Amino acid sequence: MKTDYLIVGSGLSALVFGALMAKAGKKVQMLEAHEHPGGFGHSFTMAKKYTFNAQLHYVWDCGEGDTVDRVLKKLQLDQEVTFDRYDPNGFDHMRMPNYAIDIPSDNTELVKRLVTLFPQDSHQIQQFVAEIQKVRAGLRYLSPPVQPLELLRHIGEVCCAIQYLNSTLQDVFDKFKIPQAAQTLLALQWPDFLLPPAQLSFYAWLILFSGYQAGAFYPTKHFEQVIDALVQIITDNHGQVLLNHEVTDFLLVDTTVTGVQAIDLLTNESQQYMADTVICNIDPKKAAGMIGLEKFSRTVQKKLDYDYSPSNFMAYCVVQGINLKDYGFGKWNTFHTGDQDLNVAFDRMYTDQDYSNPSFAITTPSLLTTYGGDCPTDCQIIEFLTVANYGYFKTLKHCDPKAYRQKKEEILESILDVVEREYIPNLREHLVFKISGSPTTNEDFCNCPEGNSYGSSLTPKNMGIDRLNHQTSLNNFYFCNASSGYPGFAPTFWTGALLYQRLSGDLILA
Ligand SMILES: Cc1cc2nc3c(=O)[nH]c(=O)nc-3n(C[C@H](O)[C@H](O)[C@H](O)COP(=O)(O)OP(=O)(O)OC[C@H]3O[C@@H](n4cnc5c(N)ncnc54)[C@H](O)[C@@H]3O)c2cc1C
Repeated sequence: MKTDYLIVGSGLSALVFGALMAKAGKKVQMLEAHEHPGGFGHSFTMAKKYTFNAQLHYVWDCGEGDTVDRVLKKLQLDQEVTFDRYDPNGFDHMRMPNYAIDIPSDNTELVKRLVTLFPQDSHQIQQFVAEIQKVRAGLRYLSPPVQPLELLRHIGEVCCAIQYLNSTLQDVFDKFKIPQAAQTLLALQWPDFLLPPAQLSFYAWLILFSGYQAGAFYPTKHFEQVIDALVQIITDNHGQVLLNHEVTDFLLVDTTVTGVQAIDLLTNESQQYMADTVICNIDPKKAAGMIGLEKFSRTVQKKLDYDYSPSNFMAYCVVQGINLKDYGFGKWNTFHTGDQDLNVAFDRMYTDQDYSNPSFAITTPSLLTTYGGDCPTDCQIIEFLTVANYGYFKTLKHCDPKAYRQKKEEILESILDVVEREYIPNLREHLVFKISGSPTTNEDFCNCPEGNSYGSSLTPKNMGIDRLNHQTSLNNFYFCNASSGYPGFAPTFWTGALLYQRLSGDLILA
């Protein structure tokens, strides 16, 4: 049986694309290797009572008229899938020795807070914040679908943005002579990229920083409900989402992709699935390896030559008998570093495997919505995130499973030491559940090569004009995932919606 759109993988961009196509009356079939849909956005339940989202913490672009809102309205899900806003007066709490700042939505307030901390550098800070506003405006006009008239009308901002095409965040800090401690406070959300300022694309930092300033959100009924709602749209509109189905090969006639070979992991039966169009949500480089890189045009081969984003360590914990609100947690994230220089802190963890003075993110999903349901009412969920090296963990797990478990334990203990010292005394006494994930956990449960966190690494090289897009150069075959669009909840909504718009002609994005 042939479908209109056969989608390989059920990550967010795939679900958005599939739901929009199914709603538009197209026949959609989705094949997902994992037992849960959603890719990095999937949720899992432990001890039958604690539900964690695998990776997502907070999201942007969910306000009225923004990308996520437009998609949900088109799917008539906007009343069902709603979002609670983080505290606009401080959505990210940055903490380091001798300095602390809560990042507000308002730029004037941001400058005021920074200047209070660094009065001697007032001029540079003001110039820097003015520049990021100008570059952000320019990037909006450069973002597809490009409207040439708008681009010309705002040529000043556009030119200002283009000059930073190859810049890292560090380059821009250096250009504006931002003092070291202020740099660290501004870049302390580095776990959102898993790159330090010296490697991170300035564009990537700016888009996320300003996106969260415009509104940081958490889904009222948790991420699981968002994923379930998208799956439901597909199945309600005569589509199928087949879980535990791993695609093992792509079927081609010359340069036309006609379907895939997939194995049902529960029965071990292998079957062919045919379609008019095949959408690839799995890592494009991995898919190209399955198809044969030589089948792609030279231009696409060049775009496929990206390096992967570093991987991560996540700890999913539950506390009982305390209220995290009493310890400075609330509708915000907390980012901590013990080291003033994030480039040094990152290298120490990622390259030297030294977590004795860690930098990490703390999130408290149970405090972000009053909906509950993620754990019993006398408990709260708290999660920790930092960088981890795939090669190191892969080798450990393969050669010495005991040492692998010990390293995971060591990282969590080191983080808990800091949290007990700086934030929640005696935290360990209240921990009733903890489990951690390493780069190989990402690989096993999200099927991402090298345990990568954000697809292609968010460096200037990968964020530049050679960035991969939906085009594959093969017929009836399109890429649709973080590496062929942009990583993150809202950016993958945008990626899926933009491909839908391109293939259907139905304009739903601005
Ligand atoms: C630690 C971490 C924290 C994050 N935090 C945030 C956050 O706070 N906010 C935010 O906006 N974003 C966050 N992200 C990023 C966001 O989760 C991802 O960018 C996004 O979910 C990726 O979606 P995707 O469409 O690219 O698909 P993916 O999530 O990559 O899904 C691909 C799917 O394809 C499936 N698949 C792979 N191979 C096969 C095969 N052969 N056959 C069948 N199926 C296959 C996989 O199992 C998977 O389900 C975070 C990511 C990480 C790792």
